Amino acid sequence: MKQKTLRVLLVEDNEGDARLLREMFGKESPNSFEMTHVSNMREAVIRLAKGGVDIVLLDLGLPDAYGLQSVQQARAAAPGIPLIVLTGMDDEALAAEAMKAGAQDYLIKGQVENRALPRALRHAIEHHRIQVETTYLAQHDAVTNLPNRLVLNDRISQAISLARRRKTLTAVVFLDLDRFKYINDSLGHAIGDRLLQSVALRLVASVRDSDTVTRQGGDEFLILLSEIAGSQDAAKSAKRILLSLTAPHFIGEHELHIDGSIGISVYPVDGEDAETLIKNADTAMYHAKENGRNNFQYFTAEMNVKVVARQSLEASLRRALERQEFLLHYQPKVNLNTGEITSVEALIRWQHPDRGLVSPAEFVPIAEDSGLILPIGRWVLREACRQARAWQDAGLPPIPVAVNVSSAEFRKTDFVEGVRTILKETGLEARYLELELTEGVLMDDAKFTASVLQELKGMGIRLAADDFGTGYSSLSYLREFPIDILKIDRSFINQITADCDGSTIVDAIISMGKSLKHVVVAEGIETQEQRAYLQAHHCQEGQGYLFSRPLPAPQFAALLQTG
Ligand code: C2E
Ligand code: MG
Ligand code: MG
Repeated sequence: MKQKTLRVLLVEDNEGDARLLREMFGKESPNSFEMTHVSNMREAVIRLAKGGVDIVLLDLGLPDAYGLQSVQQARAAAPGIPLIVLTGMDDEALAAEAMKAGAQDYLIKGQVENRALPRALRHAIEHHRIQVETTYLAQHDAVTNLPNRLVLNDRISQAISLARRRKTLTAVVFLDLDRFKYINDSLGHAIGDRLLQSVALRLVASVRDSDTVTRQGGDEFLILLSEIAGSQDAAKSAKRILLSLTAPHFIGEHELHIDGSIGISVYPVDGEDAETLIKNADTAMYHAKENGRNNFQYFTAEMNVKVVARQSLEASLRRALERQEFLLHYQPKVNLNTGEITSVEALIRWQHPDRGLVSPAEFVPIAEDSGLILPIGRWVLREACRQARAWQDAGLPPIPVAVNVSSAEFRKTDFVEGVRTILKETGLEARYLELELTEGVLMDDAKFTASVLQELKGMGIRLAADDFGTGYSSLSYLREFPIDILKIDRSFINQITADCDGSTIVDAIISMGKSLKHVVVAEGIETQEQRAYLQAHHCQEGQGYLFSRPLPAPQFAALLQTG
């Protein structure tokens, strides 16, 4: 294969040495090299600035630069060009130093053979290319080609020192895509990756060239806005970023819509180093998510107060199981026509030593995030099954007990096995157990969900879609799953009032449930009007304060006894 002509810049003040090298090149392969010779660092820097040099041969003893210093100067003048140093026989130690400073190789004058020289040059170039590539790989995200966290930390630090000197601000923008996981799981990683690439392009286009867009992995992006005049500039950028995401992404045959939640932290008020700024932007991003997604939030100190409160709650939650601070309350579901109790839902309560009864709405999300929901969920399931069996043994009318299951529990590979074991241990027949799953749990990874549901169904367990209507309810999904019961979310029942007598959503869910042969249960019935409306619209069952609040086990037993 014919190799391209290598353009060599020789920086050498000794005329004799220079001539020798020129002869070597000429003799060995006259057409492979094109040599330019300069005799000091100043000329070298001027020549390098013009470009068109493939490799530098640098003498370490120049009149205007010596040793390591000359390596540094040459590298600064042409950072992307490989460099070989030339030293005298007695200076190998210096040569080794030069390599540490970034030279690819060294040649000792007087020991270079004709043949070895071209090979050394080609090696140095190849070595340099690999170095550049591996550095690139280490600093960039493979999916989007954006710089990664490593680079970002560096850039933030640089931006901070610049901002400090110029008395300007710097902002860190934390973007997390909303429901990306849903797309990734349902359409596959290849589509997910292409969506991330498309998002990356939009982000880069929506900020200034001097800003840095990076991907942190997953669906998280961090953007450094260097040198902003006021913190409202960060809001402008955040708005522009959110706007840039709104147009659909066309990927393959899919038209995908995605938006994101943004948290902003600003130097110096929200942090004085990269780590703090990133952490606080992350915290603010979580608040944006809680705020209903597709919006941005500035970090505030109160957010940290919340974080701290949450951490202390999490710490006491960790000890709650062993200290036996949990208990279950039981709320009946009733037949709307006859008023008789058809089943009962077990609802967890936490008797906190200082705070009293803590609502599951407050601690279940924390238990889910921290993984504590796994042992807690096991406890709930065992306790509910044990109690149901105990009531049966005591001669009370046998009714199914419903247990709420979180996504993390459901996705554990040993979930079904755990349920089987608990049923065996407690002696409760499977047909007396109902599992309530929210739409979120059901919709994540539909294939997996369907197979687990089939298995549970095969055991004889009844399955309920909880809080129905609040998530991405899709009829086609529902058809695929062996669901027995649809529980209409309380928020829709709320809308049924005396003056505006009804809700099209409630009507739609009831008729949808009917067509799929599901038992439809209305949650949160508080008034007679609501009950009458639901009854008139053929909703079979209901649950709510109108019938009974969730009760401690003994009170519920009494209720069940009297019917
Ligand atoms: P959910 O499964 O939808 O449970 C129904 C919630 O509505 C219960 O709140 C219940 O007390 C409340 N409720 C019932 N009737 C009425 C009514 O007429 N009016 C009003 N305003 N509220 C009513 P609770 O017990 O605070 O539980 C809240 C949520 O916490 C539950 O919603 C469920 O998602 C979760 N949860 C409760 N126990 C467990 C558990 O053992 N495991 C898991 N993973 N989640 C649980
Ligand atoms: Mg429930
Ligand atoms: Mg519910």
